[in-house]
Amino acid sequence: MSNEQLTSHMRRIVLTGDALADFPPDQQGGYVKLRLTTDSGDPVMRSYTVRAFDPERRELVLDFVDHGDDGPASKWCRVARVGDRITAMGPGEKKLAGPDADWVFLGGDLSALPALAVNLEQLPADMRGYALVEVPSADDVQDIAAPSGVEVRWLVNDDETKPCAVLIEELPLVGWLEGTPYPWFAAEFDAMRFARGFFRDEHGINRREMYLSCYWKLGDSDEGMKRAKRRDMELDRMKLAS
Ligand SMILES: Cc1cc2nc3c(=O)[nH]c(=O)nc-3n(C[C@H](O)[C@H](O)[C@H](O)COP(=O)(O)OP(=O)(O)OC[C@H]3O[C@@H](n4cnc5c(N)ncnc54)[C@H](O)[C@@H]3O)c2cc1C
Repeated sequence: MSNEQLTSHMRRIVLTGDALADFPPDQQGGYVKLRLTTDSGDPVMRSYTVRAFDPERRELVLDFVDHGDDGPASKWCRVARVGDRITAMGPGEKKLAGPDADWVFLGGDLSALPALAVNLEQLPADMRGYALVEVPSADDVQDIAAPSGVEVRWLVNDDETKPCAVLIEELPLVGWLEGTPYPWFAAEFDAMRFARGFFRDEHGINRREMYLSCYWKLGDSDEGMKRAKRRDMELDRMKLAS
């Protein structure tokens, strides 16, 4: 195991061990669920994207947003040391932007950057489109390989009380290209709702022809985010049915 400061607000943890002998190859962009504990000792699960996996070395690379001590996963990534053990389950299904699309419209915040990076690296070389990435500081920009026709826009928003504000402001300003797009968007809860309105309601994209997800919710733990997500989906279904 290793644990390094990757950028200002991100740590890279490489997990190793014989337990990874059965981990399937080519799962970059999928996710694992890590078992952690709260301060009071309650077990919780948290999702992290498979940034890379080397089956021969049995090394699983995960990139963690370090958003402070307020959260078992964030807290753990600050203190994890060689020799520590953690239980990881998965991988869960990878959701990559469709290679059959004419162009891609990717968007996300720092929590989605590992998945966005895998997406960009795996797109066909002649793909066109945009990737909007909101980061909390200029020091969080990463060097990521992307097809030359995909413009990667780094958006800095250092106001942690308004996560994704710059991202959702920029979304409608991006020029809509000819042909069939594949939108891929993952970020904070409210930003995901904005993106759903933008891609589905304004541009008429069918939910099966895009990936939209919320990865966390401001002021709520992962458990609270999941409850809010279920309520929101129910309300959205009712709105669509009426
Ligand atoms: C499929 C999937 C893949 C994911 N991949 C990654 C990944 O590769 N890297 C990654 O860092 N995250 C990733 N996430 C998001 C991560 O699971 C959540 O951010 C999770 O809530 C972190 O848990 P925690 O224990 O640190 O905080 P929690 O206990 O869930 O929350 C505690 C507090 O921290 C705040 N908080 C949580 N996340 C953030 C954040 N990102 N920025 C600022 N404040 C936050 C909450 O609003 C809350 O107030 C992914 C989520 C999903 C669903």
